[in-house]
Amino acid sequence: MHIKSAEFLKSAVHPEHYPEESLPEIAFAGRSNVGKSSMINCLLGRRGLVRTSSTPGRTQLLNFFTVNDAFQLVDLPGYGFAKVPLAVKRSWGPMIRTYLEKRRSLRCVVLILDIRRVPSEEDLQFLDWLEEYEIPTIPVVTKADKVTRGRRRDHLKKIAEACALPVEAFTLFSATSREGREEIWGRVAEALNP
Ligand code: GDP
Repeated sequence: MHIKSAEFLKSAVHPEHYPEESLPEIAFAGRSNVGKSSMINCLLGRRGLVRTSSTPGRTQLLNFFTVNDAFQLVDLPGYGFAKVPLAVKRSWGPMIRTYLEKRRSLRCVVLILDIRRVPSEEDLQFLDWLEEYEIPTIPVVTKADKVTRGRRRDHLKKIAEACALPVEAFTLFSATSREGREEIWGRVAEALNP
């Protein structure tokens, strides 16, 4: 996909503050530090547009972006971040569930996992919610460059088993090598224009 424009639109917590549902939307989710902001910045070809969860501020909100004036991209707050206050942690679940339930313009969620880690309880819970709300899901395994090519299939198999999904459901990605970028855009484009 050719990215002509990518702009930050607004941050929100509650539905009344979400931007209008005038464009179809895709959302990105994953645990803190999984590499979500690196992935979005790499996909958009905009260094620093999306902030990493190790910087405080916008990271506990839903952050909306407009891309090519054609669709909206939402950076969902990363989960499992130890340094976040308990009250924020407790409000994360309802905030996400409300978004998944209410956002009619949402076409798909890219769920990001780390190739070196077995999915956490929170990852699996997120997958359950996506299934519950019948939201098409693009599971992506990132940081592929951290594992040798020969070992990737083994890692992928373990992750797929934990998620109860076929290995083929996953796209391998690396923000370092940029592999998987076109495949993700292809899957996103399909979800946006079925
Ligand atoms: P976020 O908290 O999910 O937004 O994660 P970040 O994008 O901030 O990434 C967390 C850390 O992982 C940073 O130090 C990144 O440089 C690193 N990282 C992210 N993606 C990759 C990747 O594909 N390969 C490698 N080797 N490192 C990555």
